[in-house]
Amino acid sequence: NFNQLPIEQVTDEEGKPVILEVPYPGRIVYSHIWRVNVGRMKLYLMDTDFDLNSEYDRSITHQLYGGDWENRIKQEYLLGIGGMLMLKKLGINSDLYHCNEGHAALLNLQRLVDYVQEKGLNFNTALEIVRSTSLYTVHTPVPAGHDYFDEGLFGKYMGEFPARLGISWADLMNMGRENPDTNERFSMSVFALNTCQEANGVSWLHGEVSKKMFAGIWKGYSWEESHVGYVTNGVHMPTWAASEWKSFYAERLGEQVFANQSDPKAWEGIFNVSDEDIWNLRMRMKNKFINFVKRDFKAKWLANQGDPSAVMSIVDKINPDALIIGFARRFATYKRAHLLFTDLDRLAKIVNNERFPVQFVFSGKAHPADGAGQGLIKRILEISRMPQFLGKIIFLEDYNMIVAKRLVTGVDIWLNTPTRPLEASGTSGEKAEMNGVLNFSVLDGWWYEGYKFDEKAGWALTDRRTFTDQAQQDKLDAATIYSMLENEIVPLYFEKNSKGYSPKWIQYIKGSIGHIAPHFTMTRMINDYIDRFYNPEKKRSTALKADDFKLAKEIVAWKESVVEKWNGINVVSLDIKEANPNLTGEKLDVTAVIDTNGIGKDLGLEYVSYRVEDGVEHLYETKQFKVTKTDGNVLTYHLDEKVRDTGVFRYGFRLYPINPNLAHRQDFAFVRWI
Ligand SMILES: *Cc1c(COP(=O)(O)O)cnc(C)c1O
Repeated sequence: NFNQLPIEQVTDEEGKPVILEVPYPGRIVYSHIWRVNVGRMKLYLMDTDFDLNSEYDRSITHQLYGGDWENRIKQEYLLGIGGMLMLKKLGINSDLYHCNEGHAALLNLQRLVDYVQEKGLNFNTALEIVRSTSLYTVHTPVPAGHDYFDEGLFGKYMGEFPARLGISWADLMNMGRENPDTNERFSMSVFALNTCQEANGVSWLHGEVSKKMFAGIWKGYSWEESHVGYVTNGVHMPTWAASEWKSFYAERLGEQVFANQSDPKAWEGIFNVSDEDIWNLRMRMKNKFINFVKRDFKAKWLANQGDPSAVMSIVDKINPDALIIGFARRFATYKRAHLLFTDLDRLAKIVNNERFPVQFVFSGKAHPADGAGQGLIKRILEISRMPQFLGKIIFLEDYNMIVAKRLVTGVDIWLNTPTRPLEASGTSGEKAEMNGVLNFSVLDGWWYEGYKFDEKAGWALTDRRTFTDQAQQDKLDAATIYSMLENEIVPLYFEKNSKGYSPKWIQYIKGSIGHIAPHFTMTRMINDYIDRFYNPEKKRSTALKADDFKLAKEIVAWKESVVEKWNGINVVSLDIKEANPNLTGEKLDVTAVIDTNGIGKDLGLEYVSYRVEDGVEHLYETKQFKVTKTDGNVLTYHLDEKVRDTGVFRYGFRLYPINPNLAHRQDFAFVRWI
């Protein structure tokens, strides 16, 4: 309900709507501006759906991810170029720009234009400043999450930008290409990486996956050396912990727990709370959830199916004494909502065990264009209507934040079964943790880290990929889920004492609240962004900008001079003495004489070794040469080091430019192997 949202139109002094003018090729696209008050933060939204625009442009903001590629570039143009013009119009001047996904990356193109046109910087200096003040967060390894534009289409919209920047069209295209000077399409992600000093994935594992995914951009460096980092997503505790739990925490652990929510010490008191109190609260939340399901389910089913007796018989089967397992999220196919239904006979035995009843509640939505995801929902609905699963597998329609909150506070176990390693983070399981709901999940995304904080506070499906064939892997994973339920999880839940609960289960709950939840709060996440990215970038960019961009200009001059001299570097001699030629240990004594062509001591030389493990080559170590003699442009480099360990190694020597003012190696990834 639009009128109930905390959203207001941005107006001028006379109360008239502010109209932003965004120059598109051959026309102006006009945009209204809306402000959403998200707590203390202001979120600005652009909207082209009004009569100053042609029908063709009014639809730019009609639909998220809707339309064809041309509509997509029109949207991303509005978001990036228009977004920067909007901030300028509103007088909002930020020190740093954090680009979430590549979709908004054109903001850096507009920022380059501003530095060139308003500050009179040349392109390279502008790029140095823009990079030093930008962070790019990648959110998915799924290819559909990364936009590529054909050169023709991209040129139609961006054709005027090179002239504004004093660069060539090829220069601009190359900023979006993994392999410059090819006919690759323009990648928004590559452009983001080339215009942002720092980049990160959204969990440790996703950081590793992103390093590999982007490794081809910085040639000569292996993925392990990439500067791409990570910040694991967290969830906002005041929103996602049930109010009952928040009161409980305030009372038992003290109000301090909210201010110190990301510090596990603040949560230690949970281990002193009586088991019974924890169980009673869990049951209270479970009953609240069951009542919600009964109401919601009844209303929707009666509206859609019309058979009241069937609906009542299902609703009556929902059992607070059963182990209730929840699964709800977007139905993207990689999340494998179907996995549980791989072997229906075995599943029927699990849910129909009279002594140890188990029930599943599913919910979720598929993207309107995702036929496969919609097919999954249909299949789960069909299964839920089979006689053996009636009232045992329940699908809740219209998944949204309200349904999500009831689920993550009300069930006993939160299940997640993504295809490794495609779940970049996942957050619903983090919501479950702060409500005493235990996770049973593939070791992917956040749970890869979460599970390790306390392996007696949840369950993990192993992180190894056994089969390259996805269908085989699915079968194996499903079998693992069934057997873990049968042999471990269900028996643990029903190991009930005279008071009606399982003390071991309560231990799991305490571990999940005390040991895991604190690490996955929004507070921890924001602090990580501040410590790892915002503060370091603020510090470095302030230095670069001082005294009329003095340091930035120096770095640019240095980079330009290295580029100019690079191809003239000449290896005069390379003398390798191996104490043990197979490199199974001992010493390597290497002398290299290099004509640096004037680069001098700013040219580094390093030894790089790789070790093969399980058929895969990994970076093993790097060791720096020392300059032992300087004779004009000719430098003598020497390495006298133990290179150790057994195994099969490959090694080489790498020349690279050294400058302590660089942000990291990929800031200026020039490399030459000798
Ligand atoms: C938390 C949440 C999500 C994200 O869930 P994942 O398991 O991380 O995919 C999606 N939709 C809603 C409504 C949520 O509350």
